[in-house]
Amino acid sequence: MEIIRSLTEMQRKSLTLKKQNQSIGFVPTMGSFHEGHLSLMRQACKENDIVVTSIFVNPLQFGPNEDYTHYPRDEKQDVQLAADTGVDIVFIPNAQEMYPTKPLLSIAIAERADVLCGRSRPGHFAGVMTVLAKLFHLVQPDRAYFGLKDAQQFAVVDGLVQDLNFPVQLVGLPTARESDGLAKSSRNVNLEENERKEAVLLHNALQTGRKSAVDGEKNPAIIVKEVKKQIKQNTTGVIDYVELLNYPALQPVSSLHQQVILAVAVQFEKARLIDNVIWNRDGRIVRSIRR
Ligand code: AMP
Repeated sequence: MEIIRSLTEMQRKSLTLKKQNQSIGFVPTMGSFHEGHLSLMRQACKENDIVVTSIFVNPLQFGPNEDYTHYPRDEKQDVQLAADTGVDIVFIPNAQEMYPTKPLLSIAIAERADVLCGRSRPGHFAGVMTVLAKLFHLVQPDRAYFGLKDAQQFAVVDGLVQDLNFPVQLVGLPTARESDGLAKSSRNVNLEENERKEAVLLHNALQTGRKSAVDGEKNPAIIVKEVKKQIKQNTTGVIDYVELLNYPALQPVSSLHQQVILAVAVQFEKARLIDNVIWNRDGRIVRSIRR
């Protein structure tokens, strides 16, 4: 496995691979790998000649009071895990080379970014789209792999790729979970012991919300209220949002006869956790998406 740190070297390598008709699968990450990241890499390895994963904690997507400096980092272990999983190239750019000056352009996102995490993290998705646009140009992937745990991110990247005609297929894959159902996250290490026990409530409350829809509840507001109540009563975390929207447009819904997402974000002492469930008009859970 090769480690590339230079932007020009990465781009040159990708262009050479393309000339050789090798397909490139790409898994962009911020590192601190867990089973969620590795499942994306494994799928990418099945579908592409060459798999590139990037590790870059992108300063642009963190707000001033967020955890950029405390975001967990473990490059040595990540490189080993990527190698063991069959990745061909780990791309580890540094922030100075990615952003030598303040970017001239900033991406304004017209829809899909002013709800859910976008509402409480202003500028977050603009930062994510900027880094992904750069990474797509540097890595030139045929397919890019994302986790549906970050379903809003997937919806916004979908818009980026459609709007700017990136020649890349997007693959959204299932959320990897701990055995009790908690969505795996690099931030879970920052949970206190009691918070870790409570955190599973996010997943449980979402499941209850979906069940209530499948069992016939037609009013989205009632489902949201039930989920909020369950989380409030059973955790010490502070709810950032519970929302039920259509997916991937992420607009408010008055009826559930369409593909929808029920999503939550809860702020614990040192970790902000998100989770969601997407289901289609027949009530079936949507675990993966190809665009
Ligand atoms: P991150 O390193 O948090 O930026 O995540 C990199 C990629 O891994 C993103 O596409 C995430 O959606 C995905 N990911 C993070 N956690 C999970 C998980 N529990 N299951 C599946 N994918 C995940």
